[in-house]
Amino acid sequence: MEQYDESVLEKYINHPKCIAVGECGLDYYRLPDDEEEKKQNIAKQKEVFISQIEFAKKVKKPLIVHIREASDDSRQILIDNNAKEVGGVLHCYNASEHLLPLADHNFYFGIGGVITFKNAKKLVEVLPKIPKDKLLLETDGPYLTPQPFRGKRNEPAYTNYVADKISDLLEITKEEVEKITTTNTLTLFKQFSTII
Ligand SMILES: [Zn+2]
Repeated sequence: MEQYDESVLEKYINHPKCIAVGECGLDYYRLPDDEEEKKQNIAKQKEVFISQIEFAKKVKKPLIVHIREASDDSRQILIDNNAKEVGGVLHCYNASEHLLPLADHNFYFGIGGVITFKNAKKLVEVLPKIPKDKLLLETDGPYLTPQPFRGKRNEPAYTNYVADKISDLLEITKEEVEKITTTNTLTLFKQFSTII
């Protein structure tokens, strides 16, 4: 595993266009097979995640959080370390209901192209449970391109199709989806920003 060096973050964080800290988070999808190495890997991920939460609080920027197959640990770490102070985005929200309590901790749920996929049953089911004032649109470009362009390179413009799908599923107009998600984006990133 590469050495984590916070001075690299320090170098970029003061750039006026830097509005968040991340991606950081926990990913248990690809862990070593060896039990001892697995344990060490998880411990290291947690240690770095916690230090990045502390860093975000110090520099007063929201977090962009990546969570894969690690919902319970991620939720616990975010709550225990009072990440609420800066909040952030659960990027490519993975539809885990275990993350829903983070809505009360200043965290927003990034919905991307996956919601348009035929096999997105879980996300379709969970979507209405996300408080509307915590919904965001995201691209994750160049990946996870929404239908009808699935498989092609993803572009920010395609969030249009994500908005269409959310409008269908929540039975609200597309204009409402746009208004809600734009307001939420500004609320989150404006809280400490001087450029937005
Ligand atoms: Zn990610």
